[in-house]
Amino acid sequence: MTLIEKLSHLIHSSQISTKITIIFTLCFLALLSLTNILAWYGVYYALYQQAEKTLVFSVDNTTKLLEKLEQNENIDIESIRDPLVAGVVLRVVDDKGNVFIDTDSHYPTVEQFDEHIIKNPPFWTNNDMEVAKFQRAIVYRAKTTFTHDGETVTLQFFRTITAQLDFFDRLKNILLTIDVLGLLFAMGTGYFISRKILRPISTMTKTAQDIAIENMNTRIPVHPANDELTDLANTFNDMLNRLQVGITQQQQFVSNASHELRTPVTVIRGYSDVLARWGSDDPEIFKESVEAIQSETENMQQLIEQLLFLARSDQNRQPLNMQPLELSELVEDVFHKMQKTTHTHTIKMLRNEEATIFADKVTLRQMLRIFLENAVKYTPKGGTITVDSAKDGDHVKLSVSDTGIGIAKEHQSKIFERFFRVNASGSEHKVSGTGLGLSIAKWVAEQHKCKIELSSELGKGTTISVIIPIFR
Ligand code: ADP
Repeated sequence: MTLIEKLSHLIHSSQISTKITIIFTLCFLALLSLTNILAWYGVYYALYQQAEKTLVFSVDNTTKLLEKLEQNENIDIESIRDPLVAGVVLRVVDDKGNVFIDTDSHYPTVEQFDEHIIKNPPFWTNNDMEVAKFQRAIVYRAKTTFTHDGETVTLQFFRTITAQLDFFDRLKNILLTIDVLGLLFAMGTGYFISRKILRPISTMTKTAQDIAIENMNTRIPVHPANDELTDLANTFNDMLNRLQVGITQQQQFVSNASHELRTPVTVIRGYSDVLARWGSDDPEIFKESVEAIQSETENMQQLIEQLLFLARSDQNRQPLNMQPLELSELVEDVFHKMQKTTHTHTIKMLRNEEATIFADKVTLRQMLRIFLENAVKYTPKGGTITVDSAKDGDHVKLSVSDTGIGIAKEHQSKIFERFFRVNASGSEHKVSGTGLGLSIAKWVAEQHKCKIELSSELGKGTTISVIIPIFR
């Protein structure tokens, strides 16, 4: 495993705060290294530039002076020292290599310089000049020739770029110290800041660990900051709220269902006990018991079917075969069957206009039957039930009206809730029911994008309508 592979493995397998610290430190390190390199080369470059300028200046001055000398031979040759910029050393060498002018005899000799010339000097070096590197110094050299009386001499100008490399050693030490301190600082702040920023996540983890079905009340504390973690905390809390509502509804549903099932089971049990004791002797008791058991079994079967329907719809498993269908045919069919089986009430049809809708036949029929059965159940014998289906713009309004007991204002919004029954126990109209029919109808309407309207008056009757979009 290479160092980079090891590092990336370490980053992948560590905590986010460690990851941030590592990445932060690496970035800081890269930045420091870049600064170091730039500082280092910057200083070198500046020194080369400075040396180059002084050399060029000195060469120019000297050349001009020598030209003047040629014109006026009385000028003392020694005075050519004057044009040199401070720090520049001049050596005049004849064609045999003899140095006959030397402004600083302590300086490395021409031979020593030639020996130490660098073959590949830095790219910023002037090509007309040479660089020699000695143990403790770098020396720059510029050359020019001068011919006088047929004799050619070479003028060599020297300038030390680093009087002593100690300065660079010191600079190196300073930069290194800054690097180490900077690195420690980057690691420290990276760790501290990432821990601080990510603290809400640890709190979230802890809260999530503490939450259980029996303890759904815990919420993540939300800080006023308007950042992503606050959004996350809010989203998490919203999710918990929805889950809590869902779980409470589920628990309520299970408890209501068990409660509803208990009644028929108790009745069946009671009658079967009666049958066991006296059924064989008394044909009256036998008949009554069997009828009661049959009726309760029927209730129970209806309840179980409705429960299963709602369970399937809650899990989005209730099959819906949506297709274009003629509503008037479906209404006619349900209406006729209802009319045939109901002898206690008058069931009539006002209008049944033709309209194609996009719907699932099975569940839509179920919804219409629920409305009709309720109308019959909650209307005293002899009452009238009216079915009306008429187009209204791009909708059909399908209504079922009855002349029954009506629903009080305060109950009208509740009758679509699961298990809700108006005066279920104490009603004088003791009708069997589960309180699930309208919640099923509501679900079916929602699936068909229909609106349900209810208008009812106590003692006068109820009209329940579905507004169904027409299919084009
Ligand atoms: P169920 O009829 O099995 O009790 P539903 O969900 O179908 O359950 O109806 C809920 C309640 O709404 C009924 O118990 C009844 O009190 C009331 N209700 C529904 N339809 C009518 C109606 N046409 N007239 C009067 N009350 C009604």
